[in-house]
Amino acid sequence: MRIAVLRERADAERRVAATPETVRKFGALGATLAIEAGAGEAAGFADADYAAAGATVADRDAVLAGADIVLGVQGPDPAALGGVSPGAWIVAGLNPLAAGEQGRGRVDAYAAAGVEALAMEWMPRITRAQSMDILSSQSNLSGYKAVLDAAAEYGRAFPMMMTAAGTIPAARVFVMGVGVAGLQAIATARRLGAQVSATDVRSATREQIQSLGAKPIFVESVAGIEGEGAGGYAGEMSEEYRKAQAELVSSHIAKQDIVITTALIPGRAAPRLVSDAQIASMRPGSVLVDLAVEQGGNVEGAVPGEVVTRHGVKIVGHRNVPSRLAADASALFARNLYNFLSAFWDKEAGRPVLDAEIGDAIRLTKNGAVVHPRLAT
Ligand code: NAD
Repeated sequence: MRIAVLRERADAERRVAATPETVRKFGALGATLAIEAGAGEAAGFADADYAAAGATVADRDAVLAGADIVLGVQGPDPAALGGVSPGAWIVAGLNPLAAGEQGRGRVDAYAAAGVEALAMEWMPRITRAQSMDILSSQSNLSGYKAVLDAAAEYGRAFPMMMTAAGTIPAARVFVMGVGVAGLQAIATARRLGAQVSATDVRSATREQIQSLGAKPIFVESVAGIEGEGAGGYAGEMSEEYRKAQAELVSSHIAKQDIVITTALIPGRAAPRLVSDAQIASMRPGSVLVDLAVEQGGNVEGAVPGEVVTRHGVKIVGHRNVPSRLAADASALFARNLYNFLSAFWDKEAGRPVLDAEIGDAIRLTKNGAVVHPRLAT
């Protein structure tokens, strides 16, 4: 069983899909791992460390030759997979619902190339798959980094400081969307000493917000999503709910110094949560961080990859936030991949054999065709 790891080629992608630690673990399973020279460099992992862990470090063609599994953070270029074994697995974040070359187009090309593409972001959110969940491991780091990015742009301090020269008030931080990223943003902002409030459409998050010492801000007049919803995810809200939410946010946001938005709806554009008028109501020098900027944005005027200023308020729209913490993000991502493959490792076959619950959830292509029901056209 030959596992290949390539250097990521997408813009601003600093992560890598294997670390020396996971190389050793794959070795212990009996697999051999080859990694493209320089693949870990941007994340702080040297070729020599991969070699010391037992990997072959080589150029791209040599790494791919005869590979049975290709690991990636993002999907590798389908046109460059010539040397892999027939039916090889591509195991990566594949963004299958995105239009164009980086999404659906690439899935079609994997089918044409005869490989089996497994989309790690479609891992079911069930207890036994938690350790394989790239969305959680990466969102957690994004939530943390969003707060640090806000603090770096904010011209004031986060904690209350009582000094001989006078008192500095605590920053007021409002987190919108309390999934994995939002919970970590709340915890991080609290650790920095901010006064934190948070909102979500899922009522189950109210207690989670309180348990982190933050104040829940909830629409009370119109029902949100009770319990955890389908797979724990949010859906699109009614017009009535959106109106009530906008009113609530308007009155709250004007008093906030930092707003961090993380709201996503699977398979759809991110919901718009903060309007230009609401930004104008904030004090100049305030900061908004939009973690959903690449999915269409929660904040009006947020620009992917840029920090823009509107009405004296900074709007931070960094792309690929986990990659900004490339070493930890890679370490967790690589463990997610190892946890996944090792959980299904069949010792006799010397390779992983998936069960239907997880296999059917993440398999996009097989035997030359796109097979996932969510991608039926
Ligand atoms: P996500 O990234 O899909 O969305 C982020 C948050 O935005 C969610 O909490 C969502 O409810 C919220 N949101 C959506 N529309 C909104 C709106 N209009 N206004 C305000 N908030 C809005 O979420 P996630 O971080 O992937 O987590 C989703 C769920 O999955 C959570 O319930 C989480 O606890 C659960 N989860 C389960 C497992 C597991 O059991 N394996 C692992 C991770 C997460």
